[in-house]
Amino acid sequence: MANGKRQMADSNGKIAKNNLYEICVIGGGPAGLEAAITACELGARVLVIDDNPVLGGQLIKQTHKFFGSKAHYCGVRGNDIGKLLSDKADELDISVLREATVVGYYDNDILGVLQKDRLFPIKAQRYIFATGATENMLAFENSDLPGVYGAGAVQTMMNVYGVLPGKRAVVIGSGNIGLIVPYQLLQAGVEVAAIVEIMDKVGGYYVHAAKIKRAGVPIYLKHTVIEAKGTDCVEAAVISQVGSKYECLLGTEKTIECDMILIAIGLSPLCELLYHAGCRIDYVPELGGHVPYHDENMQTSNNNIFVCGDLACIEEASTAMLEGKIAGARSFESLKGKNKQADEIARQAMSELSTIRSSPFEERILYGLNRLK
Ligand SMILES: Cc1cc2nc3c(=O)[nH]c(=O)nc-3n(C[C@H](O)[C@H](O)[C@H](O)COP(=O)(O)OP(=O)(O)OC[C@H]3O[C@@H](n4cnc5c(N)ncnc54)[C@H](O)[C@@H]3O)c2cc1C
Repeated sequence: MANGKRQMADSNGKIAKNNLYEICVIGGGPAGLEAAITACELGARVLVIDDNPVLGGQLIKQTHKFFGSKAHYCGVRGNDIGKLLSDKADELDISVLREATVVGYYDNDILGVLQKDRLFPIKAQRYIFATGATENMLAFENSDLPGVYGAGAVQTMMNVYGVLPGKRAVVIGSGNIGLIVPYQLLQAGVEVAAIVEIMDKVGGYYVHAAKIKRAGVPIYLKHTVIEAKGTDCVEAAVISQVGSKYECLLGTEKTIECDMILIAIGLSPLCELLYHAGCRIDYVPELGGHVPYHDENMQTSNNNIFVCGDLACIEEASTAMLEGKIAGARSFESLKGKNKQADEIARQAMSELSTIRSSPFEERILYGLNRLK
């Protein structure tokens, strides 16, 4: 790796001194932006690195009004929340590298960053990883045909780039993503032929399911997809009922004509860089699968590395932002020593998190966090 002394202009025009920062945040979604804003407001020199041209992470494609509490932007559209956070980061003295991907965590705590065709090092005293999550995929016959998409990819095509991905969709999975994305498809004029759910009840919030049902979209419970039909692209989905051990029941197959199949069966934390950094990774299904171990201060098994957001636990934007505040405040303290203001910010965010997590919907998360200890 090249030495870390080359000067480099970041994409908002500020100059980084020797590519050295106090706190570097990887990922500019709600978690990373809140972490960066908090640490910068406390007085740290902060860099945010994100692989997209626009900051906001998942929020830039969420055109619906968010649920949650008023204190966490409930009723505001996700893309507007993303813009609010991104504008705030721009107003502060936060350096931002856009369209830059962190590709590795190397010896001496140096990040490898790829921007266009340039690979260069970045060194910081503390790192906050907020890389979010990746969509889970499903293997079935012909699942590699064009027209089989992750639901998030469809949302990006439609809501970020204004491209209609097809005319008639079958959606697999009825969690919040599997309910919100088809509703957005309907709003864009796409027919939604069915939602297919392997469990015996809908996974997402009732409010989203009710909208889908009112639009007349059938939801097949205890069903799964077994095949995509078509030669060059998807022409139909074959679904089947499942038994008590989720086995496909012969003779229950149905063929539904469609030109796209959307997979919305959950997300997994994007923790490869944490493996690379040598952090302890635990398998906790309730938090989304393999997650970096972290304590209530969002500190990992490496004292210089903090995490927040979907990377730490698949949850929602409001909790991602609160975790971001904790990571920003606690990483600042670990760098500069105990600080009353930072401590207050972290404690306030922890208290709001525990209020959100006291809801019956969040029991699973609390159970998972206890298993991390
Ligand atoms: C369809 C849908 C509907 C939702 N609705 C709601 C809702 O109503 N209310 C709610 O509270 N939440 C909702 N959520 C959840 C919410 O969007 C996420 O929980 C939240 O965005 C997680 O924030 P994050 O910052 O952890 O990750 P993300 O928003 O995913 O941001 C991570 C960022 O890091 C970048 N990145 C990743 N790896 C690298 C790398 N190596 N180098 C550089 N950059 C990298 C990514 O490109 C991304 O920009 C919804 C999600 C979806 C998909």
